[in-house]
Amino acid sequence: MIQLGIRDLVKYPFLAETGEYLRDKGFNLEQLGHPDWKPIVEKAYGRIMVATTGQIYGSSVQDFENMDSEILSFVIAVILLKSAGIPTLIKRFSLSEARRAERYLQRDLQMKNETKLELPLKIMQELFSVEVMTEGENFVISIPNYLKRAVHFHEKEWKLINRRVENGFVFLTAHEIARLIRKELDVYINSKIQAVNISFIPDTFKERISDLSLLAKNFSEYVTVSSDYPPCIKHAIEILDKGENLPHSGRFMLATFLLSKGQAIDQISPLFKNAPDYNERVTRYQLDHIAGSSGKGTKYSCPSCDKLKSENLCFEIPECNGIINPIQFGRKRTTNA
Ligand code: SF4
Repeated sequence: MIQLGIRDLVKYPFLAETGEYLRDKGFNLEQLGHPDWKPIVEKAYGRIMVATTGQIYGSSVQDFENMDSEILSFVIAVILLKSAGIPTLIKRFSLSEARRAERYLQRDLQMKNETKLELPLKIMQELFSVEVMTEGENFVISIPNYLKRAVHFHEKEWKLINRRVENGFVFLTAHEIARLIRKELDVYINSKIQAVNISFIPDTFKERISDLSLLAKNFSEYVTVSSDYPPCIKHAIEILDKGENLPHSGRFMLATFLLSKGQAIDQISPLFKNAPDYNERVTRYQLDHIAGSSGKGTKYSCPSCDKLKSENLCFEIPECNGIINPIQFGRKRTTNA
């Protein structure tokens, strides 16, 4: 049994031990509803705002000096989100918090210190049933455990054939191990929010709960995703939607395809909001460049199917039917003699 410290709860506030800690300290919802606690409600709202912009909430040194407020900001954020009941905000928050926890997991794993390793290994074992062992400078997990997760990644480096494998175990770095379980962290945090039971909402929370409804309107403008899009494009959209990393070549394919279908930059840009490295200014600059509205005015075309195949971005189905460029999908059906 690992004895968790308060610093551990700041890093991983979604653990069940957080509830026990707050109960032991005598915190309850009635008390947190007192106007004296309003700054923590604001901190919680700020934490949600950060998440909705696709960024990762960062705890500063000062935050680690006031750890109770840090833990409470997560708990109150969960209460605000559950009370507002807006799936898109809950989804963005759980993904952002999963990425935050992923960073801490990576750092704790990199410590190479037996005591520091205990908690991240316990989280992976107990929450996600992944047994991770150390092997020199590396971490190893069984092939089935690896494949179950790596199947969702499409970059070449995740293919089993490109990994070091010995005696049924796959060798990974701290960064790769933490990355491998991001989706499960996301699902876990999301399920914790869904499971929260709130008996009453303090008045001091209500204003921010209403603000969340207004905030959610910013995310109602989505790019038109047509069921007529080819599988390579649908796949790229799914990857972004899950908050996973789409390689630069995939982003280029998606942008050029949607531009060729007449979509405006304002419509396309929100698609990239969930990308782990999203930066609004950079995204708009790149879209402007691809559309030919900046720089030398060169307008780029969607790459050919052959090129996309060579970049592992093609997910061909019979309906692709010999086309040479994704923009032809659905136009050319049967040309064989
Ligand atoms: S064949 Fe072309 S259109 Fe079909 S999935 Fe592959 S790249 Fe996309």
